[in-house]
Amino acid sequence: MRQADQARAFLFEGAGIRGRLVRIDQTWREMLERHAYSAEVAALLGQAAAAGVLLADNLKGRGSVHLQIQGDGDVRLLLVQCDHALNLRGLARGERLDGQGTMRELLGEGRMMVTVDPGPGQDRYQGIVPLAGESLAESLEGYFRDSAQLLTRLWLGVIGGSAVGLMLQRMPDATIDEEDWRTLGMLADTVRLTELAELPAGELLRRLFSGYDVRLFDARPIGYDCRCTAEHLDNVIRLLGRDEVEGILAEQGALALNCEFCNKVFRFAPEEARHALAGTPPERTVH
Ligand SMILES: [Zn+2]
Repeated sequence: MRQADQARAFLFEGAGIRGRLVRIDQTWREMLERHAYSAEVAALLGQAAAAGVLLADNLKGRGSVHLQIQGDGDVRLLLVQCDHALNLRGLARGERLDGQGTMRELLGEGRMMVTVDPGPGQDRYQGIVPLAGESLAESLEGYFRDSAQLLTRLWLGVIGGSAVGLMLQRMPDATIDEEDWRTLGMLADTVRLTELAELPAGELLRRLFSGYDVRLFDARPIGYDCRCTAEHLDNVIRLLGRDEVEGILAEQGALALNCEFCNKVFRFAPEEARHALAGTPPERTVH
């Protein structure tokens, strides 16, 4: 049976190596709605989304992970944000988002920036690595190696309506057998995207890593959360400030805010915008 929109952690008993599986279906499709991305750009965003979930599923407490992939090609930015509860959103930004080509052709030269916000009272930290090789997975392996000092292998992909990922990682402070690490990596190299998208986690792991004792943890659901709530939009209006808002109202007769993630436009009549400024938002219809 297909298990959609979930992340699942596992570990190899006694080996000091852990892993994660991620499948994003509905949530990824919601991310693409109302955006005119080509299949190739959508695939890059899907891989980034899977990577974002793999990173966020590592968070211990509350907090969130921001994954930014910046390029100098037609695609300037892939941005994925995922919080500790695996609420996910993401977007692609650039000159042309309907282009075709490989990751390199679309993104050009660039870098990957991972910002981890571990939650209230703790400092955020950031790791930056250059875009390496021909896939986002390679760049992210570089991040884990250089910034997090965690030996990591990643497989990311998009197939049909799913974005999928598999991660193997040395557990922090664990001593591992190099032979185990190599063997598990080689076995994982044989995984097909259809298997990641379609097989139940237990069956997939048994097939891939037969002979290894794998402990599988409970699945965690992934959800789409754009965060463009009425409260958030009111905050944006207050941040713009009275002068700016009144200027726009005088010029355009209303205030339009665009949520870049879901590509929706929210229109505020003058009295609605002024109520938001005053901190007492009225009931309003959202278009
Ligand atoms: Zn939105």
